[in-house]
Amino acid sequence: MGKLTGFLEYDRRTAEELPCDARVQNWDAFHPAQSEDEICEQAARCMNCGVPFCHAGVTWRGVGSGCSLGNLIPEWNHLVFKGHFEEAFRRLEQTNPLHECTSRVCPALCEGACTNGLNGEPVAIREIERFLSDMAWEKGWVIPRPPKAYRDKSVAVIGSGPSGLTAAHILNQRGFHVTVFEKSEEPGGLLMFGIPNMKLPKELVRRRVDIFRQEGIEFVCGKDVGKDLPVSELDRFDAVLLCGGAGQPRDLTVSGRNLPGVRLAVPFLAEATRRVLAGDTEEKPLLGHKVVVIGGGDTGNDCVATSIRMGANAVVQLEIMPPAPEMRAAGNPWPRWPLVLKTDYGQQEAIWLFGNDPRTFETTAVSILGDETSGVTGIETAEVEWVTTERGRIPKPIESTRSRQEATDVLIAMGFVGAETYLPEALQLTLDRSAYATSRKGVFTAGDMRTGQSLVVRASADAKRAAEEVERYLGE
Ligand SMILES: Cc1cc2nc3c(=O)[nH]c(=O)nc-3n(C[C@H](O)[C@H](O)[C@H](O)COP(=O)(O)OP(=O)(O)OC[C@H]3O[C@@H](n4cnc5c(N)ncnc54)[C@H](O)[C@@H]3O)c2cc1C
Ligand code: SF4
Repeated sequence: MGKLTGFLEYDRRTAEELPCDARVQNWDAFHPAQSEDEICEQAARCMNCGVPFCHAGVTWRGVGSGCSLGNLIPEWNHLVFKGHFEEAFRRLEQTNPLHECTSRVCPALCEGACTNGLNGEPVAIREIERFLSDMAWEKGWVIPRPPKAYRDKSVAVIGSGPSGLTAAHILNQRGFHVTVFEKSEEPGGLLMFGIPNMKLPKELVRRRVDIFRQEGIEFVCGKDVGKDLPVSELDRFDAVLLCGGAGQPRDLTVSGRNLPGVRLAVPFLAEATRRVLAGDTEEKPLLGHKVVVIGGGDTGNDCVATSIRMGANAVVQLEIMPPAPEMRAAGNPWPRWPLVLKTDYGQQEAIWLFGNDPRTFETTAVSILGDETSGVTGIETAEVEWVTTERGRIPKPIESTRSRQEATDVLIAMGFVGAETYLPEALQLTLDRSAYATSRKGVFTAGDMRTGQSLVVRASADAKRAAEEVERYLGE
């Protein structure tokens, strides 16, 4: 708890983000930290609710509620309110090995379940987490802590996103020799080459990976296991944990899909990050371009913000679903995650720059126009109606609403259908969403590869449980 009457005395306040005109000029973070006084006041709003849901991390009918990592939120809130920052941080790091990342990119499942949110505004939990994480790094509380002794057992972790990093960290701490294989040129998974720099600065991911490296984890990058590194290389390990993510994108199957100028979201975002890391930000590769993003979700929003920073002079976003309600619907009560309409940072920037919300709801692409020489020249769209069939509810284009608009680039951000299949095939195993163990003895899986596309906090939490299974197996 914070202060007994804090929630009555103080309003919820979060940091004031940089205005759109300033932030679209560069690729820097735009969400500043709050001051110590502001954070202590916000922590004071934690109300000693008796049965807190913020840290419960449960899923009801497919909708999450509370922090999947089980962060000890009421405890750190109270310690922050009392000014005991290091003790508060020590509780945060007990459950969350990637706090500098979650405190910037997590949608804050905890806040959706905060008891204050039942009748008012939730505690600004993510801001408090960010404050503790920043302070810990500044004050040197985050230092490499290698295990005191190693056992005579080794584990290969394939993939270095939040799940691979979390599992590698835990298994290393428990004394196993851990080698992480990563097909990209450096570790981090979607933390590095998915989420844009302005949301998660890449030096923070590198700093975290450096600590893990100094603690004894070996990283082997630029090796695509099952393609350019034969799976027989894994035979020398006592256990293998597959954390390869849900890298198979949901693709578009309309005419013109393969024209030059049509790209999948993640390679597009990764290329943008590589430019930022190389300091190559002066050139605006989309200067004067008209970009259509297909997919109105978080990845689509990142594509909008990235296109704007690359110089696009028009960005629209097609979303096949109807807009979510402004307020919680009756079937989506507290403490479940509120499924409400949000206007995210990229959409805010598009509204500021172009004068209107880039999203068009209940609309789909029916064809992409252009030719091999000119590339994309336009897109044909249609509104959809959702009809109930034997296969469930499906979107049906309404022919009379077909229309064409100019476009030079189409970015496909329609989500992911699951893990890529070449690695399980090379290992001759099958994955089972309901278990960490695969069909092959000694090989386990975690994160988005096991669960399907998810969130950083969930991938990290999933990996914690998988690491326990691996330890149990190796202890046999
Ligand atoms: C554009 C985008 C933005 C997102 N933004 C957010 C956000 O703001 N907040 C949030 O909570 N979640 C966000 N997510 C979701 C979140 O990033 C993922 O849920 C999370 O990263 C999954 O972690 P993971 O470790 O399971 O997989 P990943 O992060 O996908 O990591 C898998 C890693 O495995 C590597 N790999 C795969 N196969 C092999 C192989 N055969 N050999 C070697 N290496 C291999 C890949 O290169 C990759 O580095 C976003 C997702 C995307 C696509
Ligand atoms: S990791 Fe996410 S859900 Fe958990 S406390 Fe932090 S912001 Fe909340």
